[in-house]
Amino acid sequence: MKDILYSPVDQSAADYVPALRSLLEKMTCPSSAGERVGIKVHWGERGNRSFLSPAYVREIVQWQLGRGAKPYVFDTTVLYSGGRRTAAESLRTARENGYDENYLGCEIIVADGSDGRSVTDITAHGNHFATVQVADVFKDTDAFIIFSHFKGHMAASFGGAIKNLSMGFASRAQKQRMHADVHPELIKKSCIKCGLCSEVCPTGATRQDPEEYPEFDLEMCIGCAQCIGLCPEVALRILWETDDLVFQEKLVETAAAVWKMIAGKTILINACIRITAECDCWPGHNPVIAPDYGFVGGYHPLSIDEASLERVGKEPFEKTHPGVNWDRQFTYARQIGM
Ligand code: SF4
Ligand code: SF4
Repeated sequence: MKDILYSPVDQSAADYVPALRSLLEKMTCPSSAGERVGIKVHWGERGNRSFLSPAYVREIVQWQLGRGAKPYVFDTTVLYSGGRRTAAESLRTARENGYDENYLGCEIIVADGSDGRSVTDITAHGNHFATVQVADVFKDTDAFIIFSHFKGHMAASFGGAIKNLSMGFASRAQKQRMHADVHPELIKKSCIKCGLCSEVCPTGATRQDPEEYPEFDLEMCIGCAQCIGLCPEVALRILWETDDLVFQEKLVETAAAVWKMIAGKTILINACIRITAECDCWPGHNPVIAPDYGFVGGYHPLSIDEASLERVGKEPFEKTHPGVNWDRQFTYARQIGM
């Protein structure tokens, strides 16, 4: 828990890659030669300008290749329409943002699959979820590197490693479950009557006659959000309203379930640079709220996020997101024994 490594940057330096390199040299490599290593990143929404430079990810890839491992870079699709709703769109956005396989030196994957259905349900322990649904990356990956941008977030105050393990691994349905308690609401003008919502509904709550709009029996609906997450036209309303404490607890429960699957074969790196008010999903104006600190490395998501917050300070987040309790991710992680 206490093994935290720091690599501060000189803010006048033109290039922070040497600072990351120096951190990597000090870290225990999670992989052995020949092993497949998944590097979890966020390559930024289309139009976002605060995402982490691919130069850092390239450095991590080269570090792994130099040790004979077989790295790949991955992210998952998102709920909302934009540049990452489907795997094809997300890979296009990745390329636009400089995340190119030739440049990085390894394969780039959208881990929940081309249709968002390459997912698995894993056991969770907490007050909100018995299971959580995440990208099915565990079977063929020997080790993980969780590379996270430490920055602000409107409902969690800040986002770092816990958020990357949670929202970053989650299926679209799980993303919806974390954001709000759900039931489907049809936007008829967007619906193409494709029938996918009936096909994926696990309870039979969605019914659709040929050539008709789907109908939803809310008595049978368990709020799993599969229909919302997988609708190809975003014709089922995405619900964002949430209590920030509940949101953070759901975030932590999902992260804890993922962590149980990968602890012991994973290292984490937080980049505390270009610390913006909102996350890298934000396509518009996203101001920087704190000076660059540098890179923080560690072996547990809770300790690395706490160490990062300590270095950056809580004040920028409190000022940017007044009333949002930044501490709940930490207290709840301890409460559920993460
Ligand atoms: S999946 Fe979406 S587009 Fe297809 S029938 Fe259902 S609501 Fe309509
Ligand atoms: S939320 Fe889940 S249970 Fe409810 S209608 Fe959609 S797929 Fe079916």
